[in-house]
Formats: sequence, structure tokens, C-alpha cells
Amino acid sequence: MATVIPAIPTAALAVAGSADSFPVRRVYCVGRNYAEHAKEMGFTGREDPFFFNKPADALLNVADGQTGVMPYPPRTSNLHYEIELVVALDKGGRNLSPEQAEKCVWGYAVGLDMTRRDLQGEAKKLGRPWEVGKAFDHSAPVGPLYPRERVGTLQAGAITLSVNGAVQQCSDLSKMIWSVAESLAYLSTLFELKAGDIIFTGTPEGVGPVVPGDLMVGAVAGLGELHVQVGAPAA
Ligand code: MN
Repeated sequence: MATVIPAIPTAALAVAGSADSFPVRRVYCVGRNYAEHAKEMGFTGREDPFFFNKPADALLNVADGQTGVMPYPPRTSNLHYEIELVVALDKGGRNLSPEQAEKCVWGYAVGLDMTRRDLQGEAKKLGRPWEVGKAFDHSAPVGPLYPRERVGTLQAGAITLSVNGAVQQCSDLSKMIWSVAESLAYLSTLFELKAGDIIFTGTPEGVGPVVPGDLMVGAVAGLGELHVQVGAPAA
């Protein structure tokens, strides 16, 4: 049967050291998952995890050794970086225990949850959804995926981001309020998780703005570096 418009490509992430790719179904993001970042955003204490989505076609693939370019998005004057560990699932389910959830993780990558902070702040104030702040085009640069069977199960390790050579974010995966396994287990009570889902697991403290020309270098121990330059506004 023919499609009435041209078929739409499936989003996919590169796999490190391989010509293979990982097709992406859904992109989930965990909000406020490091205590010091929760504080800088005006919150305290351990609340239940909460989630938002980005569309899969907001992913910006950045190959190993390359510098990705994300155009400065429209309608903002406060574009923020958030360095995050990204996990990719090769199976899923509903109402998973943390132990079951952990076994669904196929691999990991370094990602940026780019945010139009001014639009997000306005949405929060008005009780509106976050999409305009979070789910815009090119809002999710991600480096290549590293298979868990190669790098092991990541529960600790440095997570950092520098802008133009100056370190802005520097923390450790062990400081997540909800571990990867706990976040996935909780998420699986809200949605059936499936192969191809990826999850941004939250950012540590130190978020801030970037402008066209800035070079962001993110890293998670064991997963290499993610290089992204902020480009001119899309014409
Ligand atoms: Mn985030």
C-alpha cells in the first residue's frame, strides 16, 4: 500500500565503534533529578520523579569526533544547556521493578537537554505544558550509544559540561535522586516501556545560557565526549 505523503524516516542514534544504528521510538526526560539542580531551580527535598517528552525527531545525532551544530532556536533569549546521561532500552514492559528495569538498558550516551528557559519559566508560571520550552527542533543533541555489555551498568562516574573551555557543570551519576533503575521502574507505571525508548536522566547543577558561537563539550565517564556548537538562528 502506498503512503499518501512520502514515508517519514525513523529517528535513530549512532552506535559507538559500529556502522549499526539504534532506532528511536520515544524520548522521555526526567525532571529535577539531582538535588543541587533542584535547589537552583527553587525546589528542595525528594519528590516523586516526574517526566516530560521530546519528539524523536528533535534528536541531533553527533558522531564520535564530530562537532554537531544546533541552530539557535526561535522565540527565546535564554537558551540553556543541561548535560545528561541518556539510556536506551532494548526491551520494556509495565510496572517493572528496579531490577527488571535495569535489565532493559541496552546502552548509554551523553546528551544535552537544551531548554528555552524563558519559555519554560513562563509555562510553569501559567500552569501550561512545557513543550515550547523543551521539545523544540534540534533540542536533543546526543552522542553515540555505548552498549551496556561493553561499558557495564553505569551507577557512578563523572558527568561534566564545559562551555568555551570553562567547566560549568561537574557532578557524579551517583548523585541522582532517583537512580536510572528507579526512574525507569517509576516511568513504567505510567507508560508501557518498549524497545527503542530512550530516557534523559536529568541534569546536575550549573545550568546556564549559551549564545551563537559557543562550543559546549559534555562528557560522562566511559562514554566519550559530546561536542556541540550553537549556530546562527535558523533562517
Ligand atoms: Mn533536563
